[in-house]
Amino acid sequence: MIVVLVGPPGAGKGTQADLLVDKRGFRKISTGDALRRQIKLGTEVGKKAAEVMKRGDLVSDDILFDVIQEELGSKADENVLLDGYPRNIKQAETLQTIAQERPIQAVVHLDVARDVLIERLSGRRTCPECSATFHVSLNPPKVDGKCDRCGGALVQRPDDSKESVQVRLDVYEKNTKPILDFYRGQGIYKSIDGTGNTQSVFSRLEAVLA
Ligand code: AMP
Repeated sequence: MIVVLVGPPGAGKGTQADLLVDKRGFRKISTGDALRRQIKLGTEVGKKAAEVMKRGDLVSDDILFDVIQEELGSKADENVLLDGYPRNIKQAETLQTIAQERPIQAVVHLDVARDVLIERLSGRRTCPECSATFHVSLNPPKVDGKCDRCGGALVQRPDDSKESVQVRLDVYEKNTKPILDFYRGQGIYKSIDGTGNTQSVFSRLEAVLA
């Protein structure tokens, strides 16, 4: 079974996905994390993706096709949570065909206003080792600059710069938002308020998945 989390950058998809993994035993697939791993490894895919990601655009559907197929694997009986895929109609159609044996249980939209997203993203700090995220004022790490989970040195993601954030938000409006109607038409679309503290958003998420 598949659950898809959709939302603009900074909506908290990764954080909520991690909670679902911990509490409900899902396996999380983050295409952003998968691409960042390719960049770190210096692969051809990583080289192609790096520039595009840095400016905040979408990486090509061809590359994402390979990434999602590889990440999904062939274990049809496990529960999978998709964070960051699909991001346009073409990818949503691809997912229908490659995940036929695993029905999509729900597509949950995390709804957050643009000004809140900008505040969250501009102060976000990420651990390059384990992908945990923090915020300089809203959710600071216990030790300045260090990941609470693994001790890694926190960084600002290159695409969390002011310019890239604007591009990513525009790309979301233009390319990703249309998939909400696509799923609304299939009766599996749910929307929750993504503002407030992590735990209250998680309670809303659990309620729509119950
Ligand atoms: P994320 O970590 O989900 O915010 O993704 C970071 C970046 O990776 C995005 O801004 C895109 O450049 C790229 N990316 C991740 N997932 C996808 C996708 N499904 N389609 C195209 N590009 C993607």
